[in-house]
Amino acid sequence: HLAKTGKTGYAVYDPQNASRNERRLSLLSDLRGAIDRSELRVFYQPRISLTSHAAAAVEALVRWQHPTRGVVPPSEFVPFAEQTGHIRLITRWVLEESIKQFGRWREKGIHLRISVNIAARDLMNRDLPEIVEGLLLRYAMPADMLCLEITESGFMEDPAYAQRVLERLHDLGVHLAIDDYGTGYSSLNYISRLPVKELKIDRSFVIGMMNDTTTSMIVRSTIELGHSLGLKVVAEGVEDEASYNHLVSLGCDHAQGYFMSRPVSAADLEQWLRNSRWGQNSYEPNRTAR
Ligand code: C2E
Ligand code: MG
Ligand code: MG
Ligand code: MG
Repeated sequence: HLAKTGKTGYAVYDPQNASRNERRLSLLSDLRGAIDRSELRVFYQPRISLTSHAAAAVEALVRWQHPTRGVVPPSEFVPFAEQTGHIRLITRWVLEESIKQFGRWREKGIHLRISVNIAARDLMNRDLPEIVEGLLLRYAMPADMLCLEITESGFMEDPAYAQRVLERLHDLGVHLAIDDYGTGYSSLNYISRLPVKELKIDRSFVIGMMNDTTTSMIVRSTIELGHSLGLKVVAEGVEDEASYNHLVSLGCDHAQGYFMSRPVSAADLEQWLRNSRWGQNSYEPNRTAR
């Protein structure tokens, strides 16, 4: 895929691309063994209900603790792993780790839904529903506590095939969410025909909404449209209290973002649950911030 032309123009020689390709090639050889060497980690970012102001769920976000490069973010290896096919193993590993973590938390009395990101390429994997079913059974996790986040690009390539995979996941009782909504090209008309329960508004809209009326109107109408289609609407990228309060006033269901917490390790999430106002279920939106 390195020679493909496109908007990034790989076919044209350019030293910056060349060094990026070298970096990617050496990452690729490292990625092959990353799972076996236990270098992948799952971080969790809490998601808050905007009606109860308590944490309701967490999103699992993979990180690669590289022995010499430090923490490699998913944006640097997930798209790459999709091209090479390594994503299957990564997705399976993240699913298993998240489902195990659900069980550890349940034993401690922490009941949070877990959302896991599924790559576009995973939806072309006919085994995905069986993998998910097997893991849920093995760790006795109720299917409706698991949510799978898919992006619009995930079903653009072969919508009919992706739809069948989604229907099978839905039949298991797993929840499905459309991630990064608003950045792709699919219509809500199409999405509303999929067995999806949630719409996650892309963070670019949420980050921009307080300073731009058009963006703000997009967020407002997405919430309204989502609700009229019976979907739960989640805002990602909530970076400050003003945005949080604005989303409450718009009737958005859930919020996720740095204002409440960055993605953190499982242990740090437990600490956050003990110490933060959202973990304590005592937050009131218009009370003065601490
Ligand atoms: P995503 O699923 O849309 O995840 C949300 C991303 O937004 C995360 O980046 C998160 O750290 C970041 N974020 C959360 N709150 C804020 C905020 O308030 N402000 C800003 N600026 N950013 C915020 P992260 O962890 O780097 O992940 C990036 C993307 O990588 C994810 O986007 C997802 O598409 C992909 N990804 C992450 N983990 C996995 C995984 O296990 N499997 C797959 N297939 N993809 C993954
Ligand atoms: Mg996501
Ligand atoms: Mg997202
Ligand atoms: Mg995103």
